[in-house]
Amino acid sequence: MKEKITIPYIVGDGTGEDIWNASHEIFEEAVQKATKGEKGIEWVELHAGQKALDVTGELLPEKTIKTIEEYKVAIKGPLTTPVGGGFRSINVYLRQIFDLYVCMRPVRYFNGLPSPMKTPEKVNFIVFRENTEDLYRGIEWKEGTPEAQSLIQFLKDTMKTDLPESTGLGIKPISRAGTVRFARWVIDYAIKNKRRSVTVVHKGNIMKYTEGAFKEYAYEVAKGFPEEITFDADKGKIVFNDRIADNMFMQIILRPDEYDILLCPNLNGDYLSDACAALIGGLGVAPGANIGDRIAVFEPTHGSAPKYAGKDVINPTSFILSGAMLFHHIGLPGVSALIEKAVEKTIGDGIVTYDLARQLANVTPVKCSEFGKQVVKVL
Ligand code: NAD
Repeated sequence: MKEKITIPYIVGDGTGEDIWNASHEIFEEAVQKATKGEKGIEWVELHAGQKALDVTGELLPEKTIKTIEEYKVAIKGPLTTPVGGGFRSINVYLRQIFDLYVCMRPVRYFNGLPSPMKTPEKVNFIVFRENTEDLYRGIEWKEGTPEAQSLIQFLKDTMKTDLPESTGLGIKPISRAGTVRFARWVIDYAIKNKRRSVTVVHKGNIMKYTEGAFKEYAYEVAKGFPEEITFDADKGKIVFNDRIADNMFMQIILRPDEYDILLCPNLNGDYLSDACAALIGGLGVAPGANIGDRIAVFEPTHGSAPKYAGKDVINPTSFILSGAMLFHHIGLPGVSALIEKAVEKTIGDGIVTYDLARQLANVTPVKCSEFGKQVVKVL
């Protein structure tokens, strides 16, 4: 009898449905092939965000939380977050409640991807983004509210800092504990995976006690690995250095081959991963994972792209490759490798969705579902 691999999944909002429909068969087929039929997937559908609200009356139902806790992994599509009001991001909330403090976003060029770069084959980074702190914590108060007024008064009276009354306020928490555990995880990863370098990306020249401190804490952790890490250029060791965030945006374009692992606070990592994705065809091919000590949730870098919802045109690659990361994580690297190879072959053969086709000459785009079917065929 087949051994079941139970994987909870959240389809997500907007284009989530198109992407899920095009992808799940790929995962099923890859597991079947790589395990010679010994294993099969049992999917458990969960709800979160707007869809959960419509179906269950709750944004994040207890069942979703309990099931992910039980199975320790999940894959999710994008969830819409209203701008300027409404509910807070369920994506951010999921990362917080499961303490998924590491966000991992590999950015690797492969044959067939369009790129604005002259030598895109030099692009092979992993953006690691701290996932629980920084301005992303969502500690903020709207202009004119009693909370904002009270904080403005406190800043005036106690901190001797004058702000206009019409100011909205946000707090940027970056802790030693939060940074140290994150930096240690990333450095461990770099050592285990024999990576070349780790670069801290910060804006510590301006935000000295948050991003500047982030850099200092990360260096402190790195100094605890003298056998493996060098701060100069010792041969055979991992080079540990840092770049100011604005410079880093230039570096990834002009000198991509000089960078390998980018270790970022939350917000820098968010910005940088989209910019990195642009070097290899865009958000349609940018997978990701949110990892904690107990649980990991895999999801594409992109959002719900609502204007394409239900049109069957969106690129499912980012979701498919996030699935490949999940299988690697649960100890099935063979499944992961099969999926990656099949996606690379399909794109290399010029079978691509609109987002890649419009960056390539004379290529007719296929639909989201057609892309998925082709990957299954290749498998
Ligand atoms: P988005 O990522 O949805 O779209 C940005 C651009 O990239 C759009 O032009 C879109 O069409 C394109 N794009 C995105 N995914 C694509 C794909 N798979 N194939 C081809 N093109 C793709 O970002 P946005 O428009 O800023 O946000 C839309 C919603 O998604 C917002 O509510 C936002 O909060 C949410 N969001 C969710 C997540 C998440 O669930 N983790 C991440 C980012 C944004």
